[in-house]
Amino acid sequence: MTNRSPGGADVRLCDIAKHFASATALERIDVTLPAGQFSVLLGPSGCGKSTLLRLIAGLDHPTRGEILLGDTRIDQLPPKARDLSMVFQSYALFPHLSVAENILFGLSVRGTAKADQAARLERVAAMMGLEALLARKPAELSGGQQQRVALARAVVSERPVCLMDEPLSNLDAKLRAEMRSEIRALQQRLGLTMVYVTHDQVEAMTMADRIVVMNAGRVEQVATPRALYARPETIFVASFIGTPPMNLVPRAALADIPAPKATATIGIRPEDIAQDGDGHPIRAQVRGVEYLGADQLVALDLGGARLLVRQSGHALPPGDALALVLPAQALHFFDAAGHRLPA
Ligand code: ATP
Repeated sequence: MTNRSPGGADVRLCDIAKHFASATALERIDVTLPAGQFSVLLGPSGCGKSTLLRLIAGLDHPTRGEILLGDTRIDQLPPKARDLSMVFQSYALFPHLSVAENILFGLSVRGTAKADQAARLERVAAMMGLEALLARKPAELSGGQQQRVALARAVVSERPVCLMDEPLSNLDAKLRAEMRSEIRALQQRLGLTMVYVTHDQVEAMTMADRIVVMNAGRVEQVATPRALYARPETIFVASFIGTPPMNLVPRAALADIPAPKATATIGIRPEDIAQDGDGHPIRAQVRGVEYLGADQLVALDLGGARLLVRQSGHALPPGDALALVLPAQALHFFDAAGHRLPA
């Protein structure tokens, strides 16, 4: 197998650990982020995703392990010698420089020829819709426009690997959704190898080719969004992917379901619970209903366990008994350590 493709080179993280004096941020990270793909590092606050991105960027050094770009070891190189660009959450624009000067800053520092700079600026400004804003200062731009300038500065460097740390967290919900598809389209168009950090699973699911789910400094699972949703390997992943997340019911509350011997927890997604058809019939008491318009989320009590169902039914008064069906193929089985069991 080759590590190179037209999109550039794979980023390979080999047995990475990062210890701070007061904390272990990362332990045993072995992941390949494939060339030309959009990889997302996803996990809750403090799981180590920003630390991992900083190690790739060269802003910090691993305690153990190697980072390779293709076959070249890069973890001992200074940041500017690595073939990558980075977009920060804060945008990190220079307030006293114009948009054009901000975009070209890196190229000027590297001594790129003026004519080349002008041509690249024209291209990237057209691509990002920034032509009319080039003379302005960052303070004269909206949040979305500032974000676009930060993206343009990364794109203009024409480096094959782009690192982004929560780049959309300062934007409102509508703009965030727009920028999601803009960044994704840009990545595909330029064939960039993207490494994108977020704690937002919707952002991860909508943008990624592959998601690296992290928890407490370790990798829980690496998979496509569809595979993560369909086959979470751990309870942590099951409860982190999906809105609302998968129901996780103690086996005792579903004792009549045939399950692998070691099963401690049975999982089923709220949208997989049926009103009729084949499967395991259950009866549960309605505790409350959250009406969402197109459908509703019904909170149920199942022998003391909580169960959430997404359905498009009629209004349900609390206390009603509801007959439902758990389709066999929609059940997920986990052992006491939280690991998936084969069905
Ligand atoms: P967030 O989404 O909140 O940014 P994160 O997943 O990016 O979280 P990191 O910032 O990578 O998490 O932090 C991982 C762990 O390492 C945390 O426990 C954090 O407190 C610790 N940590 C990070 N940087 C340092 C540092 N410079 N010194 C000591 N501990 C640190």
